[in-house]
Amino acid sequence: MSQQLQQEGYFGEFGGSFVPPELQEVLNYLSAQFYKFKDDPEYNEELRYYLREYVGRQSPLTYVQRLSEAWGGAKIYLKREDLNHTGAHKINNAIGQILLAKRMGAKRIIAETGAGQHGVATATACAMFDMECIIYMGAEDTRRQALNVFRMELLGATVVPVNKGQGRLKDAVDEALDDLVRNYKNTFYLLGSAVGPHPFPTMVKHFQSVISEESKRQILEKEGRLPDAIVACAGGGSNAIGAFAHYIDEPSVRLIGVEPDQAPSLTQGVPSIIHGFKCLVLLDEEGQPKKTYSIAAGLDYPGIGPEHSHLKVSGRAEYATVTNEEVLEAFQELSRTEGIIPALESAHAVAYAKKLAPTMRKDQILIVNLSGRGDKDVEQVFQMLKK
Ligand SMILES: *Cc1c(COP(=O)(O)O)cnc(C)c1O
Repeated sequence: MSQQLQQEGYFGEFGGSFVPPELQEVLNYLSAQFYKFKDDPEYNEELRYYLREYVGRQSPLTYVQRLSEAWGGAKIYLKREDLNHTGAHKINNAIGQILLAKRMGAKRIIAETGAGQHGVATATACAMFDMECIIYMGAEDTRRQALNVFRMELLGATVVPVNKGQGRLKDAVDEALDDLVRNYKNTFYLLGSAVGPHPFPTMVKHFQSVISEESKRQILEKEGRLPDAIVACAGGGSNAIGAFAHYIDEPSVRLIGVEPDQAPSLTQGVPSIIHGFKCLVLLDEEGQPKKTYSIAAGLDYPGIGPEHSHLKVSGRAEYATVTNEEVLEAFQELSRTEGIIPALESAHAVAYAKKLAPTMRKDQILIVNLSGRGDKDVEQVFQMLKK
């Protein structure tokens, strides 16, 4: 991917920005500010400070010997994003964007959230940086995720239920964009995944790339060579693109994204425009974005980041699906074997690793990106296993 293409926000034919002119102006300004600060030494020093002192980075790259032996193939390492403050990778991006917002003079942070995980990460960063925080959430989602609404409120955020449309994530996104166009002078829209119009996919990748920057250094220290494969789950695609970033130009490293078999944007999607950018989208018979369902709320999205769409079409990365049964089994097996309860999203990557590892030699190395911890999912898994 040439720098030129990235700067325009295109990854092959994917990405770009398909929004009304008044929003485009706001995005152009955001883009200019992002490129201005991303290489600014003072900005980066502050970012590194908070990633270290608040998020707890770097996160370990843990060799899981018992699991490697049980699966009888590759040597498996877990990149431990589950050990970050707030329990997942989302905080890396929230801190990066809020530091940019501060420099842009924003006083209000707005965000959308589906299940609430991005809302909680945003509310956390806003509490820490003393920013006003407004979270748009589909009215239906606020009822299903009442505990996450309470979490955000505890952290000082205002949660605005959106009744328009179906009262789901898409309606919350529309509402947040309206707010941004009305209030762009003092407001920053903190987007949670590697999706949306340019510059968001590029910006979110930049902040999540810390994952592979660390893992590359760590594996070279531990093993003296690069891994043979990296596996990560893909919803919008931010933890996966962060886990892949520093290996994209290393052709010996296989990159594998894993989706739920009920929301397989990359395995079955077609090029289309959704939420202001072009990517592979799951469409229904009428050509509308399909209603997806995943047991892992964070993977429940009919589109996927534009760079993943390009990595798939160009053949640089592979994408696979796993079933709910395989995910539940992986969730339990990692807990039992290594004492690590993964997020249901991350358990998708673990489930695929279980199929891949035995096909690899014992001297080969497989890194699984553990995007988050499973405390949030324990009750749901309890209910599912009871049935
Ligand atoms: C939100 C979330 C995901 C999915 O988002 P991506 O942008 O695809 O990374 C995956 N894992 C966890 C733990 C999450 O909270």
